[in-house]
Amino acid sequence: MNDFLKQAEELFPYTQTLRRDFHMHPELGFREVRTGGIVAKELETLGIEVTKGVGKTGVVGYLEGSKPGPTILLRFDMDALPITEDTGAEYASQNNGVMHACGHDGHTAIGLTVAKMLHAYREELAGNIKFCFQPSEEGLNGEEMGGALMMMRDGVLDSPKVDKTLSLHLWNDKPLGWISVAKGPVMAGAELFIIKLTGKGGHGAAPDTTIDPIVAAAQIITALQTITSRNVAPLKPSVISVTTIHSGTTFNVIPQTAELSGTVRTFDPSVRKLVLERFEQIARGVAETMGCKVEIEIKRVTPPVINHDGVSESVLKTAQALFPQMELDTESYLTMGAEDMGYMQEKVDGCYFMIGSANDEKNLNYNHHHPKFDFDEQALISGAALMATAAADLLKT
Ligand SMILES: [Zn+2]
Ligand SMILES: [Zn+2]
Repeated sequence: MNDFLKQAEELFPYTQTLRRDFHMHPELGFREVRTGGIVAKELETLGIEVTKGVGKTGVVGYLEGSKPGPTILLRFDMDALPITEDTGAEYASQNNGVMHACGHDGHTAIGLTVAKMLHAYREELAGNIKFCFQPSEEGLNGEEMGGALMMMRDGVLDSPKVDKTLSLHLWNDKPLGWISVAKGPVMAGAELFIIKLTGKGGHGAAPDTTIDPIVAAAQIITALQTITSRNVAPLKPSVISVTTIHSGTTFNVIPQTAELSGTVRTFDPSVRKLVLERFEQIARGVAETMGCKVEIEIKRVTPPVINHDGVSESVLKTAQALFPQMELDTESYLTMGAEDMGYMQEKVDGCYFMIGSANDEKNLNYNHHHPKFDFDEQALISGAALMATAAADLLKT
């Protein structure tokens, strides 16, 4: 067996240089033009066949092994977030207001490192690899769908048909040296909601002549909390968060309208159904009780990410052999975070694994999406080594 761990260590300067370059030049979802350009150039330099514009700014590299076999898709997301970076790092964002605060700069660099290693190993592969560099994982960013769905719409799972998927996330909630490879659910399904309330505006001193949408909004926010605390069974996970509230323009005017938005997270389809039903009943019921007109929009963002037993078992064996010293978490590590890999894994058997990347001593332990988020770059080595070895192992069996 080829030693991809040793190679990933040797390639670390390459991986780190790419990661820091992506970090300095972050791009929002569906605008990853510079990032995608570098990805395409690096893949082409290796001699890997490249297709651009798959899902707008997505890039796909196709590597054929020397022997026939299944096709495995390895997915790496490339997008950054609308956050102003506050890390003070020498490689901090030069694109003001945009930041790689989730680690996708690391994922893209890992992907190119994996491509380098597997390309050099192509004579030994019984099957093919699709390197899928995905745009806009973090949201729809003004489009009708996110990056994974848009790449699927553009045929990333077809010709040749993808048989299995592998994907990863650097994970700052856990320290360097922790790796999670689990069967079953790993990330929650997510919906976004918008509630538009229309009352009757008027003078702040004469509330009796108005229908106040702000008071109705406040009651709705409070009442929605009872869904998770009083409707869903205590041992079943669910989250409802109202994350925006907009209304009013000045201190002495009761406004005409108020708008709330937020997110719902669940794993279990029956819990999801219950939560969405109660959500609609409560938001509508409370709004109407308070005399407001209400419009409710609920949109599915992603289904939950469910790992396939067989693929996960294979990745687990690979991880055990590769990292005998590491803390391997096989007890389904669940997070209420969402991931649009859920869409691909609904169609194709896959495994989504996580690589611990925090380091308390180096102060690299802020949560994902925090303005001070940064990770220990040593995690890039484990990520690249595990991804390359897991893919090679799957094409041996
Ligand atoms: Zn994120
Ligand atoms: Zn992420």
